Amino acid sequence: MVIIDLMSRASVTAVALVLVVPTAYTQSNFDIQRAEMVEEIIRVVEQTSSYTGKLQLDNHVIEAIRTVPRHEFVPIELREISSYLNRPLPIGNGQTISQPYIVALMSDLANISPDSIVLEIGTGSGYQAAVLAKLAKHVYTIEIIEPLGLYASEILDRLEYTNVSVKISDGYLGWPEYAPFDAIIVTAAPEQIPEPLIQQLKLGGRLVIPVGPKDRVQSLQVLEKTSSGEIQTTDVLPVRFVPLTRK
Ligand code: SAH
Repeated sequence: MVIIDLMSRASVTAVALVLVVPTAYTQSNFDIQRAEMVEEIIRVVEQTSSYTGKLQLDNHVIEAIRTVPRHEFVPIELREISSYLNRPLPIGNGQTISQPYIVALMSDLANISPDSIVLEIGTGSGYQAAVLAKLAKHVYTIEIIEPLGLYASEILDRLEYTNVSVKISDGYLGWPEYAPFDAIIVTAAPEQIPEPLIQQLKLGGRLVIPVGPKDRVQSLQVLEKTSSGEIQTTDVLPVRFVPLTRK
């Protein structure tokens, strides 16, 4: 009897180890992969500097990318191997989570500071919103596809991003109740910059947006509203985003 007892204890311990060890390993593995992804982004920033005019990104942006757990926003079946590749990934409903380099670049171009109120159009997975939440005072984000918006909102709540508000709506119209915004980031491409978004930008604010036809190369643009209300637009980089759709 005693021998059987000891054996069953041993097997309980073995099972416990099997259950605990892989989880701990995976977490630190994700941390290593994320650190490598940051190094890759730093390299791509250097390689694309002739377009963007930037040899490096703001340290706060790099720090945000270094800490936000992208794997939490990636579909479970891609999580282990793809979360920290510098690539866009499918998130369902024909949509994608943007390439990490693009998330970093857009966050940098928006010139966000800790007291900024930011609007994002195209919540998608919620990853870009989480990165912005690390940089800004509050992030308002709008998603047109209900299941995506609800799922992103759930993840952001679970990870305790308390300074993010998600709305299911057509982002073309912006979010007038909380306007004007210090920065607006659009992660789906319209053929032309939506007028309501320009109106909802503060004086001195920046709108970062891919502009161009569906399924073609588009241009990532930065629109600046100067302190006197003048509009200046700059082309930064050829990109390809999913289209901005209307309800
Ligand atoms: N920022 C996202 C990227 C998502 S891809 C991320 O980090 O994962 C772009 C998203 O824009 C898609 O989820 C798409 O459904 C959404 N979208 C397209 N047109 C929209 C509109 N008019 N208003 C709000 N969201 C829109």
